[in-house]
Amino acid sequence: MGFLQLSELERKPPAPITPQCGKCGLKDKCQSPLMKPTGKGKRGILIVGEAPGADEDAQGVQFVGKTGQRLRRVIRDAGLDPNRDCWFTNALICRPPNNEIADQKMIGYCRPNLLKTIRELNPSTILLLGATAVRSLIGSIWRESTDGITRWVGWKIPAQKLNAWVCPAWHPSHVERQAEDKVLNDQFDTHVTEALHLQGRPWKEIPDFRKKVEVITDRMDAAKAIRQMIGPTPAAFDYECLVPSTKVLTDDFKWVEIGNIAVGDKLTAFEEYPSETWRKVVRGTVTAVKRFMAPCVRITTTDGRVIEASENHPWLAGRPQQVVGWLRSSKLKAGDLIRQVTNTTWKTDNTRNGGWLAGFFDGEGYVTGKVTVAFAQVYGDLFDRAMKLLRKRGFKFGSAEKKVKDPKTQQRQMMGYCNGFAETMKFVGTIRPSRLIRNLQRSIFDKACLPKVNSYAEVAKVEFIGEREVVGVTTDCGTYVAEGLCSHNTNMLKPDSPSSYIACCAISNGGRTIAYPWLPETAAATKELLLSSTPKVGYNMKFEERWTIAKLGCRVRNWIWCGMTAAHVLDNRAGITSLKFQAFVRFGQDAYDSHIKKYLQSEESRGYEANSIRQISITDLLLYCGMDAYLEWKVGRDQIREMKGVLG
Ligand code: URA
Repeated sequence: MGFLQLSELERKPPAPITPQCGKCGLKDKCQSPLMKPTGKGKRGILIVGEAPGADEDAQGVQFVGKTGQRLRRVIRDAGLDPNRDCWFTNALICRPPNNEIADQKMIGYCRPNLLKTIRELNPSTILLLGATAVRSLIGSIWRESTDGITRWVGWKIPAQKLNAWVCPAWHPSHVERQAEDKVLNDQFDTHVTEALHLQGRPWKEIPDFRKKVEVITDRMDAAKAIRQMIGPTPAAFDYECLVPSTKVLTDDFKWVEIGNIAVGDKLTAFEEYPSETWRKVVRGTVTAVKRFMAPCVRITTTDGRVIEASENHPWLAGRPQQVVGWLRSSKLKAGDLIRQVTNTTWKTDNTRNGGWLAGFFDGEGYVTGKVTVAFAQVYGDLFDRAMKLLRKRGFKFGSAEKKVKDPKTQQRQMMGYCNGFAETMKFVGTIRPSRLIRNLQRSIFDKACLPKVNSYAEVAKVEFIGEREVVGVTTDCGTYVAEGLCSHNTNMLKPDSPSSYIACCAISNGGRTIAYPWLPETAAATKELLLSSTPKVGYNMKFEERWTIAKLGCRVRNWIWCGMTAAHVLDNRAGITSLKFQAFVRFGQDAYDSHIKKYLQSEESRGYEANSIRQISITDLLLYCGMDAYLEWKVGRDQIREMKGVLG
């Protein structure tokens, strides 16, 4: 069976628990430093403001000035006694001069104080007044970047981590300043009153929605499970679409995505068959680029590289103790060794210090025929600075003192050097001193041989991933370098194509949630479900519809709900319609995408920017996709109920 244990989709690491008191510099400037929470909190309500004002600082008690009186009036109007029923604290527990938070970092320094207060008092409702309080708490339990307060006010969030209702509202000083704005004032009163009237805790038992997801990697098991979901129960579904972007090494030592390679481009390549005992490095010219569909495999190396190539694609590879030759992707096995030029790709260092190094090496550097990059320099600050910058960037530079003829009269001469083809190429390709790029080209093409040291990548696994669009790049010499590995021309790697591909899909009908890889068998079963009369729920229905048309050649039958459209209809504010936001404010679901977000398309825009499959574990991706489908279903059901309430 292909059912996997839930992997640990990363939960947010716990916030630092030691307050960095003193770091903000406020403690010594106020009359009541490190103000303790006040109030008896009989009803378990914690009210969090921004920071003590002048009156509060003078008396050592929160919310006693004009703003505080505005707040206390609402509490009393709601039938509560402020000091008896609530506790009061602030995001900053020392008064900032002129009530100005000069540096937003202060919120982070003081956050552990708020978290400690929450741990100790264990409130069932937390009222967050204003953007600073929101940033302090929600920045810790959800995502660091919370944006403006407008999107937050009025929600009653059943925070799972705290098992407490977290209720953001406007800050009363903002409301006070706009006394003539009746809507704002009414909103404030309503939001605070509703929060004060919440009963008990949101959760009897804290749910773990991750446990709802069945990750099914076996294609037959998955196809069976998909067909079992065809029926009258509405099903939410979600695709994860990826654009893998295999990188190819150019002759001036840049990595370019294969989808951007064009006829005439010059690449770093090597002899297809050795002319002497070892293959020489040569310059290849691209003579053709084609896109076509082909059955593909995903090759994972033991150092974590993931490369997708057609089954037929040949690599320069061998088994330990065996002759190296051209071996097709589909024949590769765990333990096989693929020849490599480097074990890493790189990007140009565009920083100021990177520019400084480029200038320095253009003046003082050189490349030797044995493929070493070096520089000579009089001992002193400049030498130290260069070495420091090089080492900070992880370049493996050593140093040595040069012999001089007469040490009494001559200055000390130092040398910095970095040996080896791979390291030299990485340095020159990253820092890009133009003279050294030309030097390196001159010393390697048709002269140097493929490196011998550390020159293999070990295959960890090879998985069939179905038919995909591939890019075929042909060079005049028959070879090139892809993701550092020695590759042959034919039927080349996964594309960075405008039509990226569906990597996996998940379906949820509330009772069951399955997530599975996109393979011919699962795609066929999904198509049956999508064409059936099973009511369909989506989140940004246009997106799933577009992909269904592109990849399955059909439309989705019987859409009944789009969560994103409904989110707009129910609440017209900006910044609230993403699934992640809705899942947090409606169900207190923490951020479950932080570790793979960088590989995925932007969730807000579902845009066209490329994402990358490299380094995502497929189990994590499936679990993430399953969570999306389950939460789409849950948000949809919640919205339908809410809308019925609104529309009657
Ligand atoms: N404003 C706040 O944010 N906190 C107080 O304690 C008083 C005014």
